[in-house]
Amino acid sequence: MFIGIDDTDSREKYCTTYIGALLMEELGKRYKMDTPKLIRMNPMVKYKTRGNGGVSLRVLEKDLKDSDIDYIKKTVLKYVEEYSDLEDENTNPGVVFLMEEDYKRNRSILKNYYKKVLYDIVDLQYAKEIVEKVGGEYVCYKKGYGVIGALGSIASCGPYTYELLTYRKKENWGRERIIDDKSVVEMDRKTFPYTFNNVDGDKQIIAPNTKCPVLYGIRGVRKDILRKAMRMVKCGEEIDRYMIFKTNQGTDAHLRPMKIKDIYPNTGVIVYGVVTEDPKNIRGGAVVFKVSDGTGEISCVAYEPTKRFRDIVRKLKKDDMVGVYGTVREEPFGINIEKLKVVKLSKLYIKDKRCSCGGTLKSKGVKSGYVCNRCKKRIDYNSIKLIEVKRDVSEGFYEVPPSARRHLSKPLLLF
Ligand code: ATP
Repeated sequence: MFIGIDDTDSREKYCTTYIGALLMEELGKRYKMDTPKLIRMNPMVKYKTRGNGGVSLRVLEKDLKDSDIDYIKKTVLKYVEEYSDLEDENTNPGVVFLMEEDYKRNRSILKNYYKKVLYDIVDLQYAKEIVEKVGGEYVCYKKGYGVIGALGSIASCGPYTYELLTYRKKENWGRERIIDDKSVVEMDRKTFPYTFNNVDGDKQIIAPNTKCPVLYGIRGVRKDILRKAMRMVKCGEEIDRYMIFKTNQGTDAHLRPMKIKDIYPNTGVIVYGVVTEDPKNIRGGAVVFKVSDGTGEISCVAYEPTKRFRDIVRKLKKDDMVGVYGTVREEPFGINIEKLKVVKLSKLYIKDKRCSCGGTLKSKGVKSGYVCNRCKKRIDYNSIKLIEVKRDVSEGFYEVPPSARRHLSKPLLLF
C-alpha cells in the first residue's frame, strides 16, 4: 500500500519529511515498510515552501486486511493533522492512498504523471482525476494542493539517490543550529564521491536555515556511507532521530532535451546550440548570452548567486558550441543556467600587426588596409595575417557552486 503526503509545512513550522519519519516508526511497529521516498517536483512551482518535495511511504505487507488498511489510513491522517501548519494560508495538505495492485496495473499512467509533475505546472483537478483513474483515494485539507505532490511522490521512478535527514529534539526547534564546519568538510573529503553538496568552500551547507525539525541532511548514493557520514558530523545538540529517504535529488530528473522552438516557461530543459551573441553583464550581477539551435534563439542567464560560475560564462564567445542545462523563467524569458557544457570552442583570431621589418602596421581607416610605420609597406585589409588566440576557458562541463544548486540538479561528480 502506498501513502503520499505533501504541503504540510510552512516557513515557520514542521516538515513533511518529519511526518514521514514519524509514520515510518509508527507503522513500522506493525508492518514491513519500504524505504520512504522524498521526491522533488517542478522547482518552478510558485507556491512551494522550499524545494517542492513530496513524501511517500510503502507498506510492504502483501495481505493487508480491511482493518489494517483502516488503521493505516487513520494513523496517517492523525499524524498529518498533528504536524501540519494548518494556520498558514499557504499550507494546503493533501494525502493520497493507493493499493499495491492499483499501482502495478497503472504503472504507465503514473510514470506519465510523474514526468508531468516534474516538467509542468499541474492543476489540482488534473491530479485528482489521475488519483481516481488509477483507483486511489485522496484526502484534502483546506485547498488540498498537496494531492499534486503526494501523487507525484508515489508515482516517481528511478534514478534515485538517498538523503539521510537528522531531526532535532522538540525543545531545540527554532533555535540556532550549531554544526561544526570543519567536521563537515572532513566528512565530505572522506566520503567523496559517495556523498555530495555537503560544503561550499570551507562552509557546511547541510543544515537548513528554517525553524523546521530538520537538523541537517546528507545527500549521497549509498545508505551505509550516509550512516558513516552522519557519525562524522559534529554538532551542538543530540540528534533526536534520523531517517534515510530514497530521492530523485541530484538526478536532473527535471530536465529534458528540447528544441528551442518548443520551449515554454516554467519547465526544465537541456539545449544544445551555438552562442550567437557574446555574454553581457546585466543588472543585479547576472550574465546573459544567447544560443541558437537552428529552430530558434533563447537567452541563457547565470544569476548573481551562481558567483564564480559567471566567470566561465563571461568567457564564452560567439560561435562556441554549448549545452545549456536549466529551468526556463517566464519573465524575463530565458534559461536560468544550472550547468554548462562547453562542447567546442570557436577559434578566435587577432590581426598580426607586426611588420617583417620590425615596425608596426597601422590602420589607414575603416577597412582601408594598413601601412608600416617604419618601412611604409602597404597591406590590403584582407591580407593581414591572423594569429589564433588561446582561449582562456577549456571545453568541458561546468556547474554552479553547491550553495546555488537545486536539489534536483545532478552534480558533475555523479556523471
Ligand atoms: P518542503 O520542501 O519543505 O517539503 P515544499 O517546497 O515542498 O516544502 P510545499 O509546501 O510542499 O513546498 O508546496 C508545494 C506545493 O506545490 C504542494 O502543494 C504540491 O502538491 C504542489 N506541486 C508540486 N508539484 C507541482 C506541479 N508540478 N505543479 C503544480 N503544483 C505542484
